[in-house]
This record gives sequence, C-alpha cells and structure tokens, in this order.
Amino acid sequence: MSTEAVADAGVNVLQGVDPEIYKWITTEQQRQENTLEMIASENHTSAAVMAAVGSCLTNKYCEGYPGKRYYSGCAYYDEVETIAIERAKQLFGCAFANVQPHSGANANLAAFYALLEPGDTFTSIELSEGGHLTHGSRVNLSGKWFNPVHYPLVHDVEADHFGHIDYDAVEALCAEHKPKLIMCGYSAYPRIIDFERFRKIADACGAILLADIAHIAGLVAGGAHPSPFPHCDVVTTTTHKTLRGPRGGLVMTNDEAIAKKIDKAVFPGTQGGPLMHAIAGKAVCFGEALKDEFKDYAQQVVANGQALAAGLMDKGWALSSNGTDNHLVLIDLRRTDPELTGRDGAQWLDNAGIITNKNTVMGDERSPMVTSGIRLGTPALTTRGFKAEQIEQTVELIDRVLRSGGDEATANAVRGEVVDLCSQFPMPY
Ligand SMILES: *Cc1c(COP(=O)(O)O)cnc(C)c1O
Repeated sequence: MSTEAVADAGVNVLQGVDPEIYKWITTEQQRQENTLEMIASENHTSAAVMAAVGSCLTNKYCEGYPGKRYYSGCAYYDEVETIAIERAKQLFGCAFANVQPHSGANANLAAFYALLEPGDTFTSIELSEGGHLTHGSRVNLSGKWFNPVHYPLVHDVEADHFGHIDYDAVEALCAEHKPKLIMCGYSAYPRIIDFERFRKIADACGAILLADIAHIAGLVAGGAHPSPFPHCDVVTTTTHKTLRGPRGGLVMTNDEAIAKKIDKAVFPGTQGGPLMHAIAGKAVCFGEALKDEFKDYAQQVVANGQALAAGLMDKGWALSSNGTDNHLVLIDLRRTDPELTGRDGAQWLDNAGIITNKNTVMGDERSPMVTSGIRLGTPALTTRGFKAEQIEQTVELIDRVLRSGGDEATANAVRGEVVDLCSQFPMPY
C-alpha cells in the first residue's frame, strides 16, 4: 500500500498518535488490496466518501432535522443534510427521504416503530430462506415484539420458477392472515423482485408495502433493477452495499403522512444525535451515484453476477434458483457435493484469499453456523474494475479450491494467483 493512499484516507496522522491502531488499519488496507472481496453485501467506497466520514463533522450534536435542531451551531450541517436528502430523492425518484438511520437495521426499526403496533402481523421471508434478521427473526426485536408470518420461495427444483418468490403463495397467505405490512427485499435472493405484483397483493389485503432494498440499492439507483417506486409505500435501505457509500441507512417514501411518522420514529423514536459525518458521506455517495459512470458500474455488477453464475454452473456447481438476475449467487452445495458444508467451503476460499460467506439455502438442514451454501457477490470486484474475463478467472480459482478437499498446497497456489490478479486492479481509494 502506498503512503499516499493512507494519507488520502486521512489515516497518516494516526501513525504518530496511535501506532497500534495505525498498524491494524494499514494491515487491513493491505488485506483488502490483496484479496478478492466477494461478500455480496460489501464494497470498496471512494476516497471522497472516506474523506467525508473521517471529517470534523463527527464533532457535532445535531438532534432534530434541518432548520429544527435542538442545538446551536448546526447551520452548515443543515446544508449537508439537505443536500443528502435532495440527492437521495433525485436518485431514487421519491418525494421524501430520511438520511439519519445509523444502519439498515435502524432504518427497519424506525419503519416498524412508525407503522406498526406491538403484536401486529407482518409478512416477509424467513432468514434461512434469504431474509434478514430484522424481518422477523426470533432473536430480533422484529420477531419478538411483532408477529411475523413468513411466505415461501418455490422449492420444487423442477418448477419453472424454482427458487423465486412464490407470489401465488404470498397472495394466499396475505388473504388468510391479513398482515398490516408486507415486506419485500432480501439478503440472499438472486432474482428480480416483482414490486408491481407485491403492490397488487398489498392492495388486495389492505397492507402497507415496504421494500427493503439494502442489497440492491445500487442496482436500483443505476437502473439495473426495477425501482420499488411508485409501487411501494415505504423503502428502507443501507447505503454501504451495492450503493457503495458509507455504512448507514436510509428511509424513503412518496407519502407525506408516512414521511412524518418516519421522521418521528427515527428521531426521537429510536435514535439520538445523527452521525453527521456519515450523512456527509451519504451525500457524497448519492452524488457519485447520480453520475453516468454509476450506471455503467451497476450494469457491470449484474453482467459480472451473470458471468459468475454461468461459470460456476458450467463447472457443475448447483445454484439456488439456477442462476441470478443481480449481484449475488448462492451455491447450493447439497446438489453438487453433499459432504461439503458452507462453513468449510467458505473457510477454504478464505485461506486462498477469496472472501465469501457461508449461507443457509432453502430448506437447509444444517445450522446457520454450518450451512449448505456459499453466498458470493460481484459489487466489490466490479468496483475494482473486474469484467467478465476476470470473473471467469475467478471462477477457475473458486472451483479449484472447492474441489481440493481443503488442501493447503492448492490454497497457497491459488492465493498467489489472487495476489497477482489483485495487483492489476488497484483500489478506488
Ligand atoms: C444488510 C441488510 C440490512 C441491515 O443492514 P445493517 O446496516 O447491517 O444494519 C437490512 N436488510 C437487509 C435486507 C439487508 O441485507
């Protein structure tokens, strides 16, 4: 890593003040540079975003909203937050945006707090099928204080829409349970979400429709996935996954009454002082995502996802839903190598410098700590400049590792090739 790169990230000053933390940050920077980051929810943000996040804006309390703060000295922060809000609205084509949620989980918490009462029924898919903890898991507040009813995916391998959301089943389930809110948007779902169909289902049962686009926000912003607007009543997201911004959350809507409830639910409902440095980072990220280059990136993320899926299937690896429409691919190890667990597969890849995560697959009988799947994504590699050619090389490496039985010599050899490949594609920062 070059000294300049560290200086750019504003980290150099640390060297003298806190050499211990400096060491770990620079070591981590080298790890990022020399490995293939294929965790579907991760990315490499720009130097400009990092500059905003590492700025003096971390020093200020700005409880409240632009023009209505509880502290003095917030005028410049009002400018920053207003720019972030306006850019978010422009980027996603909606009328209201709250840029204060600290994370995706906080965005969902605020939406639940705004729209549901404790004990209310809502529907979503289960964590083990590709949903998220905040979508009604028993270990999360969403599952403890509310009543989640989970809708299924199509499990039949022979069916046309194997691994897709079973929309007919969603409709039947909603007719039976009359949920107050329907959630769509997932953490491990490789297919396009049919927001229009969800709208019809929501209208038929009188439910509020919430899309959590945490994973696909960058694809939506770049026009590589259909927009949840105008179909959805509320949209929550993270800003750090495909959208490539700082870690953070965002809630959007076109409905003024819902917007008012969301604002109250974020502050003072569930949060205190906003992270203004992160909000500045979000503004920079939205500005970047409004540029034409971002559309190219989003298209390339999907093209790379499809190249990854096709390459793995060519090598005989079975995928959930037999392919992908987006940035992520879920290998279902049960159908290729029933002995291999997600835990071992992801560990072997990690040993070779290919960073992924173990993931449950539909109907998985293994525990979440073991699993029968590996989730892979293309956003970070695309940010580094990978095209189909490098994805094909990456597929070769993944296949070699997964067929090696965890052999150390293979891991080391692949590790060398990974470092070579990485050296040709420098970080964006
Ligand atoms: C990642 C994710 C979240 C949570 O985001 P955090 O910033 O980790 O809290 C919420 N919903 C979905 C669908 C996600 O994939």
